[in-house]
Amino acid sequence: MEDCVFCKIVKGEIPSKKVYEDDEVLAFYDINPIAKVHVLVIPKVHIQSLQDLKEDHKELLFHLFETINKVAEIVGVDKTGFRVISNVGEDAGQAVKHLHFHILGGEKLPTR
Ligand code: AMP
Repeated sequence: MEDCVFCKIVKGEIPSKKVYEDDEVLAFYDINPIAKVHVLVIPKVHIQSLQDLKEDHKELLFHLFETINKVAEIVGVDKTGFRVISNVGEDAGQAVKHLHFHILGGEKLPTR
């Protein structure tokens, strides 16, 4: 999508600090980290949020979760634990309307 920041990152029009990339997905460090480790995992295709997943996205969704586990290993939080968050819509504060999963870790995370 033209005005989507994450689509621009996928196209290389906006720089990012990449952690992992393949044909379907991209993982990069969040520009404004809220934990010692804060990485975003996104599909390359524009999907607005979890609410817009379709039957066709089954494999992609599994691959996104495989990628989350792979990224956790790459950034070294697989043994210590991590949190996965996907904000949907206004009350959750979804700022970027391109499906993404936050991986947070590297320290004890607040429980609320
Ligand atoms: P959300 O509030 O769930 O939509 O989260 C969007 C996240 O994207 C925020 O944590 C931002 O810090 C992050 N973000 C926005 N622009 C960029 C960018 N250009 N590079 C990396 N992270 C970004």
